[in-house]
Amino acid sequence: MTVVENVRVVGFNPPSVSEPVDVAFGDESQGGSIIAVGKGGGRGYPSAKRVTGIPYLSPGLVCSHTHLYSALARGLLADIKPSKDFGEQLAHLWWKLDRAIDRPILEYSALAGCADAVMCGVTSLVDHHASPEFIDGSLDVIRDAYEAIGLRGVLCYETTDRNGMDGARSGVRENVRFARAVDAGRKAGGKPKIEAMIGGHACFTISDETMALLSDAVASTGRGLHIHAGEDRYDASDSRHRFGADLAVRLDEARCLGPKSIVGHGVWLSKSEIELVNERDAFVAHNARSNMNNNVGYATLLPEVRNAVIGTDGMDGDVLAEFKFAFFKNRDAGGPLWPDFYLAALDRGNRLLERCFGGSFGKIEPGYPADLVLWNYATPTPLVSANVPGHFAFGLSARHVRSVAVGGRFLVEDGRPAFDMEAIFARSRDEAARLWKRMDERS
Ligand SMILES: [Zn+2]
Repeated sequence: MTVVENVRVVGFNPPSVSEPVDVAFGDESQGGSIIAVGKGGGRGYPSAKRVTGIPYLSPGLVCSHTHLYSALARGLLADIKPSKDFGEQLAHLWWKLDRAIDRPILEYSALAGCADAVMCGVTSLVDHHASPEFIDGSLDVIRDAYEAIGLRGVLCYETTDRNGMDGARSGVRENVRFARAVDAGRKAGGKPKIEAMIGGHACFTISDETMALLSDAVASTGRGLHIHAGEDRYDASDSRHRFGADLAVRLDEARCLGPKSIVGHGVWLSKSEIELVNERDAFVAHNARSNMNNNVGYATLLPEVRNAVIGTDGMDGDVLAEFKFAFFKNRDAGGPLWPDFYLAALDRGNRLLERCFGGSFGKIEPGYPADLVLWNYATPTPLVSANVPGHFAFGLSARHVRSVAVGGRFLVEDGRPAFDMEAIFARSRDEAARLWKRMDERS
């Protein structure tokens, strides 16, 4: 058991800052939950490990959409042809990269990506994975990386038929196999830290035949679909042109739009589609940096989205940087949103976890999982309940992360990772060089 003494608890929903309290939580063997929160509340646990001198503690951060397979793309040195539009960027870069991934590249991509995220205060990571030449068992490799680092998360495989129907069927099979394995773990009495979704790449690479397979997989596993939709304008036009339906309507007709679904990006969803997404209570993952990097346009209807969540879309694990970019992009575009919208979106990742795992997430209260961050945040202005969102936009950042715990286990303590980050990064640099070479061999 651990007691964090004399710390102010920063809450997200609603934004709040407490008076100094003690926070007691059990380690993994004790259930990994928060046990007590209160003034002097640590006195009842004299044998617990003590943590002192940290000013702030908050719930852990949730990154609701990422691609660990792109963790080794940072600083990419490969022969990438210039692209005229989003379709060419996919063909020239991302589809070349994902096809070059083999097992060791995926292993170190996932380990490096998880390590990066946890150092930024992320305790739960929702991944959307593609490796068309290594599909079967790929989600197990990613799960092992999560477990090695200690993160919580939700995994899926990006089914697509851009590599033929055999590839599409393999993608669906991997999703279903993994979901069944999670079910078996639960049945055996386990409390999994890793859950499953059913993944689809993007509507424009999914034929009606493949969509029907995904629909069956969603129904048979009880999971939600995690898919890119309306990232670029092309996807929206293609849906109307080839399939005679708006993106959200097509997903809905396939029974793939529900309270456990994630629509990635949704930049080009129309007003009526957002109404439908809201009606189905689905999530829309906003990834501002990636949208800017790919020049796909700005999600001007984001304020209309009921369940907006924040993702990094594989840029890195720094969801607080993503928060800031999202807010400033909205300001730059003359948008109406204030930091409170983005803090609510960051917190809403916990609703996604609740729907995937069951139970409750995202508060520092007895009974909640001890997924938390200790912040070494020295602030030159008062931090109080009324300005928590403002501190997220203009102050608090990954450099203030001091310690991170998931399920009561410290993954980062006093700024030091509990895993061998140097060894992981040393090997991931080798695998990155190999990945880049394999990409060049395929041009
Ligand atoms: Zn994405």
